[in-house]
Amino acid sequence: MAEWKNTEAILVTLGKMEIKEAPMPEPGDNDIVMQVEYVGICGSDIHGFQFEPFIPPRDPNQKIGLGREAAGRVVAVGKKVTKFRAGDRVNIEPGVPCGKCKYCLSGHYNICPDVDFLATQPNYRGALTNYIRHLADFTYKLPDNRAGGGKEIR
Ligand SMILES: [Zn+2]
Repeated sequence: MAEWKNTEAILVTLGKMEIKEAPMPEPGDNDIVMQVEYVGICGSDIHGFQFEPFIPPRDPNQKIGLGREAAGRVVAVGKKVTKFRAGDRVNIEPGVPCGKCKYCLSGHYNICPDVDFLATQPNYRGALTNYIRHLADFTYKLPDNRAGGGKEIR
């Protein structure tokens, strides 16, 4: 993957984002790396861009990426990942919970207090990037067709 380049859109000040070079993500054992093809821009992204993230970072020098609803193609998988391979069309669930707390263990991971959610705390990693690493368990295959005959919009 050394010849591929990665960039990411970073909020540098309110109302201004810059596209910067970023390291190419490498998959951990249980991760996929997705080439990002689509990112939805939601109200909280717009709020973060215009005002500040809903949960402002404690560190004023924290790098802030925006964008969390993303889809694309798998380009690499970790050595323990068996349900994906390069070329699969996927989308990612933006929140990755801890997997250890009482909420996660009871199946209510959506209220995990230690969730690592894209474009917010604790890491403010955004999906407005060329490539993103994500846990395979929170990645989902998309069909090769488009539901309802929808048209691609670019
Ligand atoms: Zn948890």
